[in-house]
Amino acid sequence: MIIMKTDATPEQLARVISEIRKSGLKPDVSKGEFQSVIGLVGDERKVDFAHLAALPGVKETVMVETPYKLISREYGRFSGGLTENRIITVGDVRIGGDEPVFIAGPCAVETREQLFRIAEAAKKAGAHILRGGIFKPRSSVHSFQGLGAGGQEVAEEALEWLRQAGEKFNMPVITEVRGEAQVDLIADYVDILQIGARNMYNQDLLASVARKGKPVLLKRHFGAGIEEFLSFAEYIAAEGNKDIILCERGVLPVGKGKSYTRYTLDLASIPAITKETYLPVIADPSHGTGRRDLIFNMSCAAVAAGASGLMIEVHYNPEEAVVDGQQTVTPEELKNIVDCCQGIHKLIAPRGNRE
Ligand code: PEP
Ligand code: MN
Repeated sequence: MIIMKTDATPEQLARVISEIRKSGLKPDVSKGEFQSVIGLVGDERKVDFAHLAALPGVKETVMVETPYKLISREYGRFSGGLTENRIITVGDVRIGGDEPVFIAGPCAVETREQLFRIAEAAKKAGAHILRGGIFKPRSSVHSFQGLGAGGQEVAEEALEWLRQAGEKFNMPVITEVRGEAQVDLIADYVDILQIGARNMYNQDLLASVARKGKPVLLKRHFGAGIEEFLSFAEYIAAEGNKDIILCERGVLPVGKGKSYTRYTLDLASIPAITKETYLPVIADPSHGTGRRDLIFNMSCAAVAAGASGLMIEVHYNPEEAVVDGQQTVTPEELKNIVDCCQGIHKLIAPRGNRE
């Protein structure tokens, strides 16, 4: 990382950028209130730091060891003003701001009527963003793969419903991009692109989604450590897109745990990640527990742990849901969760040690 002097000129900054490019690395420029900091994307060993340090306008050069330096707080600590939590604005919604954000909707979009009914009820319950899976990752090839599996026309129709429901109820929309072939299509319809847990390690998918320039919600793989999770978020940042929402959705349970909860929601990861990065972290208590009767408690706990929001599966009749009904709450339950979590957030946010 190169820290420029406060009085460095634009020409001096341009010279440093060009020297970095000459070494085969990509510069990542952050302009703070007082000074600019340039991160180096690529193998820093290729760079002659002594040479860069001697260039006019350079204050100092620092080797940042972390594999996720572009999204790390440490990166900004040197420059003043670059350490604040990143607020991601989508329509009227601010993720990582003063209020917790609720993303709600069905696990899978089934019909137009189902989606609109859930969207209306979720909005009334206090949700801000509408979710709905169209390309579903499933453990069995024989189960419903989402409407997207019905071919291009059906997929586009479902995406159109999602967009229309979002417009009608004034909610930005999000859906999962399961493969690279869907990136362009989905990006035309939604406000936030979701990378599912199973794809957290798919660096080509991460890069192509990032290049769309829209916010990306990245879910933690159920076998990934925190460092790995952040290292793969870095693939998105390295494409110049730092509008990344991190989502804790549980890791594999140990022993016989699976007979009680689908995954183990790792709530300690939320404050731990928040110390490392300025990106907002949300939690998904639906997939994190697999149990409707645990969603309320785990939602409250996640917000108490410092989550900037929650992603919750909701349906007017969970028993009827084609996918994940066992972990889906009703709109009434969602309202109760939203109300309680807002109260908890008010209490916690001003006192919590966010960094
Ligand atoms: C989802 O949110 O629809 C989903 C499939 O979750 P995950 O990727 O966390 O399993
Ligand atoms: Mn689901």
